[in-house]
Amino acid sequence: MRISFLGTGAAGGVPLYGCACIACSRAQDQARYQRRPCSALIEHGDTRVLIDAGLMDLHERFAPGSLNAIVLTHFHPDHVQGLFHLRWGRGAAIPVHAPPDADGCADLYKHPGLLDFQRLAKFEPVRIGALTFTPLPLIHSKPTFGYAIEADDGTRFAYLTDTLGLPAATEVFLKSWQADGLALDCSFPPSQEPLRGHNDWTLALASIAAVAPKRTWLTHVGHALDAWVIATAPALPAQVTMALDGESVDLGRSSAQPC
Ligand SMILES: [Zn+2]
Ligand SMILES: [Zn+2]
Ligand SMILES: [Zn+2]
Repeated sequence: MRISFLGTGAAGGVPLYGCACIACSRAQDQARYQRRPCSALIEHGDTRVLIDAGLMDLHERFAPGSLNAIVLTHFHPDHVQGLFHLRWGRGAAIPVHAPPDADGCADLYKHPGLLDFQRLAKFEPVRIGALTFTPLPLIHSKPTFGYAIEADDGTRFAYLTDTLGLPAATEVFLKSWQADGLALDCSFPPSQEPLRGHNDWTLALASIAAVAPKRTWLTHVGHALDAWVIATAPALPAQVTMALDGESVDLGRSSAQPC
């Protein structure tokens, strides 16, 4: 299974419009530190599934017919805004699997165009080509699913944004599921204030310790977290890294090892 982190940013991205903090200045100067809307491409064999559609250039990145499906975590704009352009295209319908959110976002349900919305149910697996996605409830301000993704060679990867901690049932599931890899919401630096909708550094590390995946990538990163990491160079546990836009990872037995 190949995971490509197409975007790793919190809403607003890095650099944040108008911000001159150390992280935003660095991203202005060095494009590799930019963080776009949080999303990932999951590939296994001939199967290609896009998780979340916040990138505004989906129509340029993915030729017609090149995706088996799009899977949405939730309907916040930074996760669906690319659909507003894509929907007016021509050709075959694109399956869009989504959590049960009666509101969706703006007029996406009313005018779906190419998009074929399919409603998921928690803990009910759906098979997409060579991949099986099991929706896991998360804790956020809209109905939100993370996904336990299993390839047909047994490789397991969990993708969990956006969330503030984990519901007990999701944590229990993941503890026994034993992920090879995990991508986890880590939006904020350690915070003394009540958190809103997302993990801070401390809570993300607590969730990782509870779930114990083999490897973890922190994603949905806000500029204040990047600035804090630059300023304090905090230690991370082994096998935990901060994801970068454009980073690709091969997980599992069938992965191509670099020689
Ligand atoms: Zn988000
Ligand atoms: Zn900033
Ligand atoms: Zn959100």
